[in-house]
Amino acid sequence: MKIFVITLFPEIARLYLNTSIMKKAQEKGVLFFSAIPLRDFGIGKHRQVDDRPYGGGPGMLLRPEPVFAAVDSILQMGENPHKILLSPQGKTFKQEDAARLSKKSSLLFICGHYEGFDERVRTSLADEEISIGDYILTGGELPAMVVIDAVVRLAEGVLPKESTAEESFSHNLLEYPQYTRPPEFRDMRVPDLLLNGNHEEIRKWRKQKALERTINRSSDC
Ligand code: SAM
Repeated sequence: MKIFVITLFPEIARLYLNTSIMKKAQEKGVLFFSAIPLRDFGIGKHRQVDDRPYGGGPGMLLRPEPVFAAVDSILQMGENPHKILLSPQGKTFKQEDAARLSKKSSLLFICGHYEGFDERVRTSLADEEISIGDYILTGGELPAMVVIDAVVRLAEGVLPKESTAEESFSHNLLEYPQYTRPPEFRDMRVPDLLLNGNHEEIRKWRKQKALERTINRSSDC
């Protein structure tokens, strides 16, 4: 899978994507990653990327020309990635989106900053707009990392299939409770059933607990 990130702060993406599972995926050759500095496509000698909104109002907007030029530079390399705009106005990201996007061979994430993008970036450049939740962050870098992490760990060859098959949300259920050693800690005991090695009983117990958790959480919302 190829991942491109257009950003004013490529160091954020480089730091995260060169750590842990993302780093291992690159070392295994199943992930190729490139951070594209938006500033490189800025206008004039100050490499300007933003300007005041027409009609007035606070803050600065990202101008369309640098963003379109940065995308063109990727297309000119012969790539045709699925283009994702990070935006609090987008569709809220869910595990099913992670699964869907993990099947794509090439993804491009466009990170906003300041007051966001000129509307023409939204309407004419992006294939989809993703929000990671109903709150406002300073920039699209952290949302992009959230989405990339969730997507890449499901991509072919990154993690063993069994590691991701039974996680929360994978069958519309939350994950069952899990324990490791020691069997007793500060008067809290691991359920005996998990220690007895009866795999059929353990399977039924896990299913029951996953159902209970899912129902309890949906009644909390
Ligand atoms: N003025 C915009 C609005 O009210 O919708 C918010 C702009 S925000 C300060 C700057 C950038 O951060 C956005 O363009 C987007 O790329 C990113 N961003 C902020 N919150 C986000 C969220 N919840 N999900 C995805 N991206 C977000």
